[in-house]
Amino acid sequence: MTATQTMVYLIGAGPGDAGLITVRGADLLKRARIVIYDYLSNAALLNYVPASAERIYVGKKGFSAHVTQAEINALLVQKAQELAQNGGGVLIRLKGGDPFVFGRGGEEALALSRAHIPFEIVPGITSGIAAPAYAGIPVTHRGISSSVTFVTGHEQPEKTQSAIDWTALARLATRGGTLCFYMGIHNLDFICANLIRQGAPINTPVALVRWGTLPKQEVLTATLCDAPKKARAAKFAAPAIILVGRVAQLRPELAWFERRPLFGVRVVVTRSRVQAGVLSDRLAELGADVYEFPTIEQTCPDSYEVLDNALAHLASFDWVVFTSVNGVDCFFERLPQKAAPGTCTDPRALAHARVAAIGPATAQRLRTFGITADVVPESYRGEAVFTAIRDVAQKAGSSLEHACVLIPRAQVARSVLPDLFRQAGAHVVVAPAYKTVLPRDSAVSELARELQAGRVDAITFTSSSTVRNLFALLKDQAPVLLRNVELFSIGPITTETLHDAGCTDVHQASEYTINGLITCMCGYYRERKDKK
Ligand code: SAH
Repeated sequence: MTATQTMVYLIGAGPGDAGLITVRGADLLKRARIVIYDYLSNAALLNYVPASAERIYVGKKGFSAHVTQAEINALLVQKAQELAQNGGGVLIRLKGGDPFVFGRGGEEALALSRAHIPFEIVPGITSGIAAPAYAGIPVTHRGISSSVTFVTGHEQPEKTQSAIDWTALARLATRGGTLCFYMGIHNLDFICANLIRQGAPINTPVALVRWGTLPKQEVLTATLCDAPKKARAAKFAAPAIILVGRVAQLRPELAWFERRPLFGVRVVVTRSRVQAGVLSDRLAELGADVYEFPTIEQTCPDSYEVLDNALAHLASFDWVVFTSVNGVDCFFERLPQKAAPGTCTDPRALAHARVAAIGPATAQRLRTFGITADVVPESYRGEAVFTAIRDVAQKAGSSLEHACVLIPRAQVARSVLPDLFRQAGAHVVVAPAYKTVLPRDSAVSELARELQAGRVDAITFTSSSTVRNLFALLKDQAPVLLRNVELFSIGPITTETLHDAGCTDVHQASEYTINGLITCMCGYYRERKDKK
């Protein structure tokens, strides 16, 4: 494809979990100029799409289609033609699961073909295979099932001439073959009754998998005989796969997804968007349903004057103390522009100074710049970093008296650390490297709604400012909204701030790091599950 050509890609988004899109699908999303997407494709996949791209939602929720298929076909053709006249590029039609498995991708491809618009298909993992897999059910299994049949469960029961061969399906199920119904929850009675009527054993195992591969996955196991009753009792709703066959018996032994330590826990991560990534990813990996709510965002400080001045005279500092990952990033981002002429603009600029990091995450970030911190205290508090530095200085036969100490950090922060250095006779420069602010478009009301509805189980706090900001945002509603939510704090200072805000019941990490916080959460939920 040349730069000016237009190409439409019908891409399978996979069954739900954003990690289950193909590498090719993700690569193409990064090149999109227009994306037309569905209800069942994970919205997180849009993060791959360039900000400048046009995004068009044509979601069909259940059976109450608000955009018809004919309209979608016409839209695809129209948008592709517009794009061609407008410099060309990539148009993506992103569809849940696989585009050609009950996805009407064939109809969309035909519309494009008939309009002479070039297109390609990128298959996706279909929910009929993935949802059972995440429920611990292989759709075929040696000695149990030698076939799997994908069937629409959407056929109207009143249809006189069925396109589905129920006799054949019942025969397959009788021999252990797997039947996989899509869009069938509304018709569950009809499906089970039909199979029984055609001779399938009433005790044939059935598994219903709702929202498969996502943290809100629900699984119900039954038999052909009692599945409708059980589903009604559990108010089991779409979207779900109905799996019929003996393979469903493997679930008790093979279930894995729900066994993740934080499965089913809906947790709000309050770090800023920039920092949330690692914590959110790790929590999601452990099965949590992560809701990112950045209570703070990082922006430039009101003035760079102090930092710039320090960067221009870096050689005069004996110590540079980094108190956050963000401080490290901002420092090295600014350094090349502001280092004194003729001096190093890379990390060698710190060759004359000793470097301290407040904790392992900050030390790790320094390492990515090729710097191994001389001091990382055992306990990650300002006081501890001071003591550790003093000890190192003493061992080396020097003292902190008259030492020049640079602390690049947030514009607003505690004065404990600089005060301690000053008391020891050091000359301290506190250089604002960034500023934390309340996010402008913070979806506070959405969070409040979620809390109100009891859809949040836990909140993580990784600094005092995340606490202060969340309480400032929720205002006087905070105590009521947080009443039934487990609060997890990274360390004593954050906990203290929570106590000050009136929260007495706080879980605190015993190691004051992200890892420690995660361990603390896993421990709490393990204990709770054990108690049940
Ligand atoms: N092309 C899609 C299917 C679209 S039809 C695919 O290949 O997966 C819509 C039906 O797919 C839903 O009614 C439901 O039966 C099934 N489905 C889609 N996503 C699902 C999920 N995450 N868990 C369970 N079933 C799902």
